Amino acid sequence: MSEMRDGEQWNYGAIDEKPVDYDFGEGYPEKWEYFEAVECSECGEVRILHGEEQHKDIENTECEGYLSAGGPMMNYCYPLPEFDMNPDEAAKKIAHLPVCLVHFEEDDEYALALTGGGMNLAWEICAAYVELGYLPPLHFANLPKYAGGPPIGFAAAKRVLSAMEKSIEVNQHWLEGHKEDVKGLQAWVKECEKKRKDE
Ligand SMILES: [Zn+2]
Repeated sequence: MSEMRDGEQWNYGAIDEKPVDYDFGEGYPEKWEYFEAVECSECGEVRILHGEEQHKDIENTECEGYLSAGGPMMNYCYPLPEFDMNPDEAAKKIAHLPVCLVHFEEDDEYALALTGGGMNLAWEICAAYVELGYLPPLHFANLPKYAGGPPIGFAAAKRVLSAMEKSIEVNQHWLEGHKEDVKGLQAWVKECEKKRKDE
């Protein structure tokens, strides 16, 4: 769990991002690779790996537990613009969520991808953005309400919602900027028109 970040430390790059279709059924590992941190079924230790392994087969331990990192399960990804973290460290930060980190070779871009499916995982996706220091995309602002409460727990849900408020604030600020731009252009067009008439 990360601490609340102040405004200066948030990455604003994902605020206007949307889910992107991507066929993870092909292209691995030439076009894309994944970084997934998972817990051992026995000892609970977190490791980064690909596929399923018995703990004692990947390191010097007696542990009989299994670790399973299957990579992306759904053909969507969620962009992480200007990603500049160590991918292994980032994967560990989101180990508790049903998402992994994906790296696309061609354009050297990173994104989040779901490692599970079958239900709306918007809370989990937003929590992953927040864990990685990104203000969450406004696309997810209308998060689903479940009978039992938020699926990521109350503390994480509160953190997601206050980050979402910040996304909205930043976006409002951007919109004000666009409004000023358009006002300036309107004045400029009028001025040009007047000049033209005066000629
Ligand atoms: Zn183990």
